[in-house]
Amino acid sequence: MTAPDILAITARKVHSLSDDWFPVVYGCLERGLGFYLIGAVPIGKYSRGPRKGQKKFPPKKHHQRVVITTDEKRQAQIEWENTTGLCSCCGGSGKQVKSISIYGTTYSDCVACDGTGKALHLRGQSTTTNLE
Ligand SMILES: [Zn+2]
Repeated sequence: MTAPDILAITARKVHSLSDDWFPVVYGCLERGLGFYLIGAVPIGKYSRGPRKGQKKFPPKKHHQRVVITTDEKRQAQIEWENTTGLCSCCGGSGKQVKSISIYGTTYSDCVACDGTGKALHLRGQSTTTNLE
């Protein structure tokens, strides 16, 4: 499982966008206040050419620009972890990409979950149980 797009999940939730809304641009607001996303509901997929199989978006004037705060993102992240029990940084794989090159992709243990793949706050609970 690949890592979830928490920013997209947050934007859909906070702004009541449909589940098939996807961001095409991700940006940070100044002074760490939050994030902005620009996206749209794809109108289909490319059937040929170099972008074959990729989502095809409508013209830019039909895109929406939405803003989410750092708190809203954090809350969506906790909700996602509570629902799945998985680490939202690595999507439960316990791995994060270390480097991508022509020789292939290398991975290292996810720093957020120590390579366990479990959500951080849920991992704390199981440790307590072991000590009893
Ligand atoms: Zn992780």
